[in-house]
Amino acid sequence: MKQGLVIKTTGSWYAVEDENGEYFECKVKGNFRIKDIKSTNPVAVGDRVNFTVQNDLKSKTTNKTGWITSIQDRKNYIVRRSPNLSKQSHIIAANIDQAVLVATVAWPVTTTTFIDRYLASAEAYRIPVLIVFNKTDLYTKEETSRMNQLIAVYSKIGYSCLVTSATKILGINELKAKLAGKTNVINGHSGVGKSTLINLIQPGLNLKISKISEMHKTGKHTTAFSAMYKLSSGGYIIDTPGIKGFGMLDMEAWEISHYFPEIFNISKNCQYNNCSHTHEPGCAVKEAVEAGDVAQSRYISYLGLLEGEDKYRKPH
Ligand code: GDP
Ligand code: ZN
Repeated sequence: MKQGLVIKTTGSWYAVEDENGEYFECKVKGNFRIKDIKSTNPVAVGDRVNFTVQNDLKSKTTNKTGWITSIQDRKNYIVRRSPNLSKQSHIIAANIDQAVLVATVAWPVTTTTFIDRYLASAEAYRIPVLIVFNKTDLYTKEETSRMNQLIAVYSKIGYSCLVTSATKILGINELKAKLAGKTNVINGHSGVGKSTLINLIQPGLNLKISKISEMHKTGKHTTAFSAMYKLSSGGYIIDTPGIKGFGMLDMEAWEISHYFPEIFNISKNCQYNNCSHTHEPGCAVKEAVEAGDVAQSRYISYLGLLEGEDKYRKPH
């Protein structure tokens, strides 16, 4: 029995890296189910697995093959709901240490609504977030001060923020250091500079990532490919083709405030236990917004999610 890390999934084959850095093409033995998760795939990129070497599995690419016999407990995982099987979900990746959100105040604009939805999903998944503000070389004075306001808001809540310019090579070593030794996913709108930043951190890596993402676009099995790539400074970047943010999870209305840490904290002082922080008397959250202790933009994002949730629930 060996232990390894699943670094790539392509249909029924899983590439597993063992403790010595050797690779094995593995298949899953039997139909092992993971408690409480209805997923279309039993094993995902980032899973730590136990496997047995079995050299007769007839992989086309290697004679080092094996059977995955079990997976170790996941500390977290991200999912995408299967479009056709509504109750089932596809596990995109597991055991993520850090979600990196690349944001831009301009060229293009990343809205606080987008940032806050991303942060709320990451909270729901229990994944720490690093917010990287890129393209700072392009910002006007006003845009720079807007960025600084946002950094103040998000650092106060506890999110790490970093300022970069890929063009001027600013903040790149800091970013490299923040990614080192961790398993990272990188998200953000198209055009914010993700590929450029990845290339600066590790030249050549983005080419590999583009290759797999291209396969995804043309392939029939649109959810089959995911991979993690080693950073020479230690750690990995997980490529999740086709995933721009995290898809919003199914959240009950009462849950949403749990994923806004500063709102959740203050809600303990609301008069009513089940306060939705919208219209209730004695709402500590509304008071905090008025006093400027909770950012207006965060409260607006919270209300937006709540409203979306209500719309979602109306048919019942
Ligand atoms: P992605 O879609 O997030 O991967 O974005 P890309 O890395 O492809 O970058 C989109 C465009 O923005 C490219 O033309 C990059 O050269 C440019 N770009 C990326 N980072 C910066 C930056 O920090 N400053 C400026 N001025 N341009 C940048
Ligand atoms: Zn309240």
